[in-house]
Order: sequence, then structure tokens, then C-alpha cells
Amino acid sequence: MAADVLTRRARVLVIGTGGAGLRAAIAAVESGADVLVVGKRGRADAHTVMAAGGINAALGTVDPEDSWQQHFADTVRESYGLAHPAVAEILTREAPAAIQELVDWGCAFARTPDGKLDQRYFGAHRYRRTCYAGDHTGRDIIEALVRRAEALGVPFVEHTHVTRLLVEDGRCAGAFGFDLRTGEQTAFLADAVVLGTGGHTSLWHPNTSRTDENWGEGIALALSAGAELMDMELVQFHPTGLVAPEDIAGTLVTEAVRGEGGILTNALGERFMARYDPERMELSTRDRVALANYTEILEGRGGPHGGVFLDVSHRGLDHIQERLPKMYRQLLAFQGVDISKEPMEVAPTAHYSMGGIAVEPETHTTTVPGLFAAGECASGLHGANRLGGNSLVDILVFGRRAGTEAARIAGQGGAGVGGGQAAGAVADAAGELDALLAAGEGSPKELQDTLRSLMWERCGVVRTEAGLLVCLEELAGLTEASGAMGVGGDGERWNRLAHGMDLRSGLMTAEATVRGALARRETRGAHNRSDFPALDPALTVNFRQRMGEEGLEVWAEPVPAVPEDLAPWLDGEAGAPTRR
Ligand SMILES: Cc1cc2nc3c(=O)[nH]c(=O)nc-3n(C[C@H](O)[C@H](O)[C@H](O)COP(=O)(O)OP(=O)(O)OC[C@H]3O[C@@H](n4cnc5c(N)ncnc54)[C@H](O)[C@@H]3O)c2cc1C
Repeated sequence: MAADVLTRRARVLVIGTGGAGLRAAIAAVESGADVLVVGKRGRADAHTVMAAGGINAALGTVDPEDSWQQHFADTVRESYGLAHPAVAEILTREAPAAIQELVDWGCAFARTPDGKLDQRYFGAHRYRRTCYAGDHTGRDIIEALVRRAEALGVPFVEHTHVTRLLVEDGRCAGAFGFDLRTGEQTAFLADAVVLGTGGHTSLWHPNTSRTDENWGEGIALALSAGAELMDMELVQFHPTGLVAPEDIAGTLVTEAVRGEGGILTNALGERFMARYDPERMELSTRDRVALANYTEILEGRGGPHGGVFLDVSHRGLDHIQERLPKMYRQLLAFQGVDISKEPMEVAPTAHYSMGGIAVEPETHTTTVPGLFAAGECASGLHGANRLGGNSLVDILVFGRRAGTEAARIAGQGGAGVGGGQAAGAVADAAGELDALLAAGEGSPKELQDTLRSLMWERCGVVRTEAGLLVCLEELAGLTEASGAMGVGGDGERWNRLAHGMDLRSGLMTAEATVRGALARRETRGAHNRSDFPALDPALTVNFRQRMGEEGLEVWAEPVPAVPEDLAPWLDGEAGAPTRR
């Protein structure tokens, strides 16, 4: 073991304390495994706390006609045929139980006057099936999961940044990380590892995330460990992010605003969704509303800050304060705008990674033995367009499944807890940090900013082959610059080291995104290629990637067929109006 590196051992190591990581840890402990959870942030402050509008399950409490089959159909149809049916089926069948579990663990979802769980509309769902806790659903879910994990005695290692997965004899044998406050390095040796590390939307500016999360960290860790990725080009741009002031540009205006009747207009006062989706209007799919907003702005019909207007004031102060309390407070605090009296100005913002690590549907095992991935870092559920509210239930259903399977395989080798040594991998990981800590040229933060502008400009809402090729070239330049950068110096160096590692993850996942976007020579869902403006039925495939000898390899795989008994539920084209 490298000098000065601490060692900790566990049967199951969970990386990330968002909903997926917490749910995996709970499942692994309940399955009898000895577990350790490592995260960059405090246990109750992972990215999931930002989730606002709600979580889906076909409970039928307000629309009794709803069913899991209809939820399945909405999910698969709106994915433009790229969702894996097995993943969507498991999710929609198990969603009601996942909600019940949260209720049992004290999550205070909104209720109807007769005490049932209330459900609201989210875009492109046929029925009301989105449960919510005001517009702070994510925080309430995380608090319930943390309570449950603490009651089970799950140990946490917080404020620790994982920089490598340790691979020994072709198996994942743990991870390596450093303490963000002290720099202390630790090798976490484990029999199985679950990644619950979130997506890669911080690669774009504007985005809805926070600056130290969502750099595709876990996706890059998995790729470097030999795992395959899938659908990396499929990134959801949310139609409504704040446009001003600059330091909060991109902050999400939750879909619940449109769910509660919010109306979109341009600078000419036109309710422009009538041109893009006259039937569903503002409750159309995210990809359509995002492209509509983008087009209105690009064609010069935007407002003073370069956005379009979203108005919910007709619902009145009481309704807004009850259903959208956070939005009401945020707009007043950030912009002095009272949304019960006037519209807000919004524009598209990078929001969600629909692609990620390729996993097997039932257990979310990756292509590397001993390594699992769940939540936003994994792929398979959303295809080319995620339905709002499906992610929060994804992290619960598949976090539980990944944690259960990780616990099952963890004890099988017969060795002691976290029995490997992975000495070579540990030495390499420590060496990488030492090299970065040596003095160098260029600041990680500046390179991160350059990367974000580049991705927005060349691989954003609308893409072209020429732009993507320029993007690849500039990414190569940034990668070279990142090789020379240094983070040494003063007391802020651990933070800079984290930025440096985030940048490296970002560069890897950016390249995978661009290569996927080049391969997908069509327009489908959130992936708009202005040089290939139509959907190509021959490209109803998932693009997979892995690291080969010569760099990233990209290939197409057919999407598994929808089971015969569920096919009749898919009664419409993707993006076609659904019945209400
Ligand atoms: C503003 C906003 C609103 C949203 N609203 C909704 C909604 O209403 N409904 C819905 O379904 N979805 C919503 N989403 C999406 C949803 O919140 C996320 O997809 C989901 O929370 C992802 O959970 P996760 O557990 O997969 O990852 P995350 O919650 O992103 O957690 C990952 C954790 O891993 C940690 N981590 C990452 N890399 C490392 C590393 N190398 N070392 C250590 N730790 C690491 C991160 O710090 C983070 O804490 C929203 C998203 C945003 C941004």
C-alpha cells in the first residue's frame, strides 16, 4: 500500500449520497452486507435535494384510470423508442411500492382533502401521476432516506472526493479518494461498488446543477475502469431556466409551474406553443418546449434578458404559495419578481443526462464485474426524452435493486470483508494526485469555464456535424492543457484538486457526448441535428462506447423489443399528442 494512504474495507462501497446512493446503501444493509457510503458533500446535501416538482407512480389516487402499463407506455413512447422496455417495465411496476416506502419513512407528500396522496400533471403524462411535497420534493425524499439509513447504522464518509475505481484481476475492488478538507488519501477496498454519482450537465453553461457536482465523475470513473457507456449524446435541456442575474443563470424553474397552468409567451405577446404543439401546449414534452423556447429566442422574439416569458400569475397568490412556495421565494429574492403578479423570463438550460453507464436492467450491473450503477449516472430508462418526475423514482427503484445485488455478490468470494489489496491501482491513483499537486500552468476553474462555453456553443440544444468536429478538436486542446495544469500552493489546493479531477471527468464525458452526437445523424427527442432534421427509423438504436486501445470506440446496438403484452399500450408516435 502506498505510504500515507489510509485503508478502509467494506463488503459494499456506495459512492454518492444522492437518492440512488442512499437507497442502494439501505438495500445493501437490509440484505445483511457491511456497507460504507462515500460522498463529496454532506449526507443530506447531495444534488437530489434540488429536485423540485415531483415523483411519478401510477397510484390512480386522482385519476383512477391510470395504470402502470400506461405509465410504461408514456415513458417508452416519449423516449422516441430508445428506452429499454425491461427497465421501463420494472420502474413503472415498482414505482408505487417505492412511494409507499418513502411514506413509511416519513416523507410528507401532499395529500388530497380526503387524505389520499395528491398527484399533479407533469408534461406528456396521460394522467396525473406525480406525487409532490410542495416544490421541495427532492429535499423531503433525501431527508427520509437519510433518516432510514441512520436508523440502520449506515456509516458515511463525507466530503471525500473519489478519483479512481480500483480494478484488480478484472473486477472492481474498491475506490480511491481524498478528503476535501485535509487532502488525506484513502483506499476504500470492497467486494462490490455501487456508483450513484449523478449526471454530467455541469459541462454546459447554463445548467441547473451546482458547480461542484454533475461533471460526469462516476461515468468517467466507470469508463476508465473498463465499463461501457450508452446514449451519451442524449442530454435533456430543460425549457425553463432563469436567465438573470448571470451568477444564477440556468437555475431551474420547475415544470410544476407549467403543471399548475403556467403560460409561455414571447416578446410579441404570442402564446407560441400553439405553433409547436397545439394540443398539449405548455404541457408538451420537454424536448419540444425547449426547442420552441430556443427557436423563439434565436429568431429574435425574446425578452430583455434573452428569454421568453412564463406566467402563472392567474393562479393567484394563495395557490402559488401553496403549490410553488420555493419558486415564489426564489424569484422574489433573485430578481425582485412577484410571480403572483408578473411573468418570469426563462430560457433552456442543461438539466439531465439521459445516457450514462450501460447497465443490465434487473440488477444494474455494469460490464465490469463487481461494479453497479444506479440513478442519473446509469442509462436505459429515458431514451431521447425523459419524462419529468421519472428520475426521482428511477433512483429509488434501481438504487434498491443495485444495492440488493451488490450485497448478494459481495460475500461470494469467501475472502474477508473487502479482501483485495489492489496495491498497483492504489499507487497509480495516488500518483495521479501527486502529479496534479505539483506546480503547473493554467487553472482548472478557467479550463472548466472554457469547456462549458464550448459545449453550449457546439454541442448544445441544436448541433451540426461541423460544430461537433470543431468541438472535438477544441476538446483535444483542453485535454492537453489539463495535462499541464497544477493545483499546488495555498490552503485552497484541495478544492482546486477537486476542480482538476472534475475537469478531467468532464473532458472524458464531453468527448463521449460529442462522439455519440456525431454518430446520431438524425433529430430525435432532445438531440437536434440541424443538418439531419428528421428522425431516421434506422437509427432506433443505442450508441454504446468503451475505451479502446486507440481511444473511444462507438457502436450501435438495437433496442430490445417491447414485450407483446405491452405493445398495444403504445398507441401513438413519440411526440404525438396523448389523450387526456
Ligand atoms: C433543479 C433540479 C430539479 C429537479 N427536479 C426533479 C423532479 O421534480 N423530479 C424528478 O424526477 N427529477 C428531478 N430532477 C432530477 C433529479 O433530481 C436527479 O436526476 C436525481 O436526483 C439524481 O439522483 P442521483 O442519486 O442519481 O444523483 P445525485 O443526486 O446527483 O447524487 C450524486 C452524488 O454523488 C456525489 N458524487 C459524484 N461524484 C463523486 C465522486 N467522484 N466522489 C464522491 N462523491 C461524488 C455528488 O456530489 C452527489 O452528491 C431535478 C434536477 C434538478 C437539478
